[in-house]
Amino acid sequence: MGHRDGYTAFVSSGVGKKISTTLGLPQPVALRRHVPGRPLVDGPLLVGGHGTMPALAALRATLDEAGAVVVDEVPEEGRLGGVVVDVSSATAPTDLEALRATLAPALKRLGRCARVVIVGADPASATTAAQRATHRALEGITRSVAKELRAGATANLVLLTPGSEGAALGTVLFLLSARSAYVDGQVFRTGVATSQEPADAATPLAGKVAVVTGAARGIGADIARTLARDGATVVCVDMPSAGASLAKVANSIGGSALQADVTSPDAGARIMNHARTRHGGLDIVVHNAGITRDKLLANTDSERWGSVLAVNLTSILAMNEHFLAKDGLRDGGHLVLVSSIAGIAGNRGQANYAASKAGVIGLVDAYAADKGLRRRGITANAVAPGFIETEMTARIPFATRELGRRLNSLAQGGLPIDVAETIAHFASDAQSGVNGNVVRVCGQSLLGA
Ligand code: NAD
Repeated sequence: MGHRDGYTAFVSSGVGKKISTTLGLPQPVALRRHVPGRPLVDGPLLVGGHGTMPALAALRATLDEAGAVVVDEVPEEGRLGGVVVDVSSATAPTDLEALRATLAPALKRLGRCARVVIVGADPASATTAAQRATHRALEGITRSVAKELRAGATANLVLLTPGSEGAALGTVLFLLSARSAYVDGQVFRTGVATSQEPADAATPLAGKVAVVTGAARGIGADIARTLARDGATVVCVDMPSAGASLAKVANSIGGSALQADVTSPDAGARIMNHARTRHGGLDIVVHNAGITRDKLLANTDSERWGSVLAVNLTSILAMNEHFLAKDGLRDGGHLVLVSSIAGIAGNRGQANYAASKAGVIGLVDAYAADKGLRRRGITANAVAPGFIETEMTARIPFATRELGRRLNSLAQGGLPIDVAETIAHFASDAQSGVNGNVVRVCGQSLLGA
């Protein structure tokens, strides 16, 4: 629960629940978040559908291994921890009835923070119009179900491409897990994975060297901590003015700190050089540093315009000259860029910020399509956070802040750890087939698609 979100604490109390229910106010629940050793889902998991996802058998085996109880029908008693329905082999809209028939009884019996994961095929790889329409329909179903769910439950869609089942399994597991607490109503496209599963599932990033910009506080600090938790050695980068807190974060995770303004012309070379000489190379780059300078466009001067574009977008392009050079990221490396829902939906007073964050999505599209990078197995994905409880959002005036916080399917803001978990997921080699995705970590914000 966000430490500044007094309302969620209020409705969790007996009196608060009564008052808020009577008034028809939003009912956020404390989300289930990752705790090592805890089961994947809370309660039995219904696995259904008539898809031919070969990974479904593997999924059952993996879930068995993970200690999840897999059932074929809604049990007579108790609540489900989640439901996975594979309709990847559907060819016509009439096949969607099977999905409805599996989901309808299950949705009535979902427990707190339960998971709905629908597995379809990427519409782009369909061979007929009917098939393409059917798989596109899954998006509408997923996004609607996500809006209907209550009590912290989420619904997401995983799309397969031929041969992607390995990567898809990892994505399904991520979406079932507590790591995806604030990921809701999203579509994950999977591709063919080229890497092996990690030797130790608890440390999928073992042996990797990662750079995180803007790591002194907020989302960046949690990204650094999460990558380190997952086994990576992390280079934490932030402004010299944030040096003290930067050193604290780096020391707490056994990483190294590098003071650099990402807009300075030598930032990319310095970071690359630091990673190479101190840690022997570089595998993961998370471009997280970002600023806002809000004003209506009519009142935006060139300084406000330029500074936001320089930090949030141009610096990434310039630093990537070094990270993506032949002697930069090692083969099989991963870039993860931090966008924003403002870059998808636009936001009043944020034309400069939305430009930079939409531009970030353009960068991901370009890198994901780059043949040279593909040959080297380098992936690029973006995470677009919605309302996350940080110092950036604490500065928003109260009424606007409260709106941003509540106008999503989970009726609460996310925590920095929620963004960090999705980034760590994209940074893992098991996700080497996942490229060019833009996933929102926004509790299904009503802003944007
Ligand atoms: P924050 O302001 O709390 O932290 C940003 C960090 O970036 C700070 O430590 C800051 O010193 C650093 N930074 C800023 N300019 C820099 C520069 N030129 N060089 C190096 N470091 C620099 O922000 P946050 O909320 O943690 O946001 C992190 C990222 O997430 C940003 O890209 C932001 O746009 C994005 N985001 C945040 C939210 C949210 O709700 N908080 C929503 C969408 C997107």
